[in-house]
Amino acid sequence: MIYILGGGPTGISVAHELNSNSDKEFIIIEKGSKIGGLASTLDWKPHGLHDLGPHKIFSIDKELELKVKSILGKDKWITKKKISKIFLNGKLINYPPSPFVILRTFGLILFIKFFFSFIYQKFYLNLKKQNINSYKDHLTKRVGSEIFSKVFQPITEKIWGDPSTLDKKLSETRVQLPSILDMILLTIGIKKKNNFEANEFIYPINGLDNIWKKIQSEIDEKKIHLNTNVVSLSLSDNKIKKIHAKRNGEDIVYSLSKDDILVNTLPINIIQNSFKDFFGEEFIKESNKVLKMNDLFLVFLSIKKTKLFKESWVFVADRSVIFHRVSEQKSFDENMVKKDRTIVCCEVMINKFNKNFSDQQIIDKTIEDLSIIKDEKIEVLDKKLVKLFKSYPVYEKEYEIKLRAIIDKYDSIDNFYTIGRQGSFNYIGTLDCMDIGFGFVKWLKNQNNIETWESERNRTNQYPILD
Ligand SMILES: Cc1cc2nc3c(=O)[nH]c(=O)nc-3n(C[C@H](O)[C@H](O)[C@H](O)COP(=O)(O)OP(=O)(O)OC[C@H]3O[C@@H](n4cnc5c(N)ncnc54)[C@H](O)[C@@H]3O)c2cc1C
Repeated sequence: MIYILGGGPTGISVAHELNSNSDKEFIIIEKGSKIGGLASTLDWKPHGLHDLGPHKIFSIDKELELKVKSILGKDKWITKKKISKIFLNGKLINYPPSPFVILRTFGLILFIKFFFSFIYQKFYLNLKKQNINSYKDHLTKRVGSEIFSKVFQPITEKIWGDPSTLDKKLSETRVQLPSILDMILLTIGIKKKNNFEANEFIYPINGLDNIWKKIQSEIDEKKIHLNTNVVSLSLSDNKIKKIHAKRNGEDIVYSLSKDDILVNTLPINIIQNSFKDFFGEEFIKESNKVLKMNDLFLVFLSIKKTKLFKESWVFVADRSVIFHRVSEQKSFDENMVKKDRTIVCCEVMINKFNKNFSDQQIIDKTIEDLSIIKDEKIEVLDKKLVKLFKSYPVYEKEYEIKLRAIIDKYDSIDNFYTIGRQGSFNYIGTLDCMDIGFGFVKWLKNQNNIETWESERNRTNQYPILD
């Protein structure tokens, strides 16, 4: 038996693969009333359907994209052009901005400062040996100190915190920039598409939940245990022996037999305490510091307008605006929301600037700031706040070495594997999670030994993230 903890994209993909390509028995244990995790669709009556932040489904691995498409059927997907803008210095501009737009947005003096600090960095400082210890050092090396402090610092502080305490991997993987040549070619129109971001993405008609519902419909319902909250695990002789959970207030215990396996996709710090006796309190304390997750609040607004933005996303760099990103469900599938209104999702990361705000203050400030961005009065029909606690991994400096040591410890338990975005503290997207789920089952069927597990882990450690 394979016990899968968590019914998000990672856990569901493990189940899908076991169901369709193996004879192994399995059970998914999920605390929610449905599967889908962070990639779920909510039904907001009477306004329409909306995802927990509409997701672009995209991977540079086109085989993987095809495999996921075929779960629903190839005709059940929409292909969308990705259009992003950024709200910077009080103006809504294209991303990446051309030099002319930067000049218009910041004025001549700042433009000259940006230019010289970029040139100074590229052609003088980069020739000298520099200590690159943090996200701040790494990104400054790429864009110069002036652009860093005016453009990247404010948005970074809103999403992750102090840039000088963050790991350089965030700059390497999360901040994709065009080369100078690309920027010139794009500006003068010789190049139409850039290759540092996803220009197109796919989206399942009528919302993400349709993927999970389709997978669920093919699995025997007895194998999906919903409303079941995993509380702790019991461990002895280097093996997980029991899973303790609660369902409708009742204690449930799953007892594992000799050859049973547990696949965890829950945030590892949720179950850390189960391992105190095994790994020692000090280890658990230290790993809790490394596995830092930020809380993300989603403010959904139903607005009396057929459409608000042309863009798929607007990123908001300005510190004065409470949210860092806004998206609109109709930009992904216009039929998910009633014709006479639209639903937007404003993402508010809980940070040092807003941590003392009440829920009402967060919603009011979101509406106020949205009106500023759109430069019009926003008529809100309804609002809804969804709190995603501990959902955004924060990569603090040198976290990778420490994380490796933590994951190695977990891997040393004979029948326990921890995978996925939350399960391996890996800041990745839906298709990456599905790839990990599929890959896990393939590994299990083929050559399940610890050496090959190591290379399977490494395969899934470095997905390029194209925003
Ligand atoms: C606002 C937002 C926008 C995003 N946009 C995109 C995008 O555009 N494109 C993209 O590809 N990805 C996007 N993502 C990321 C994507 O949602 C995640 O990569 C993916 O959902 C992670 O899957 P997972 O299964 O690893 O984790 P999760 O989705 O977090 O699933 C974990 C599951 O475990 C369950 N669980 C937790 N604790 C317990 C417990 N104690 N007992 C039992 N069950 C438990 C949870 O309920 C959940 O169902 C976005 C995420 C967010 C939050």
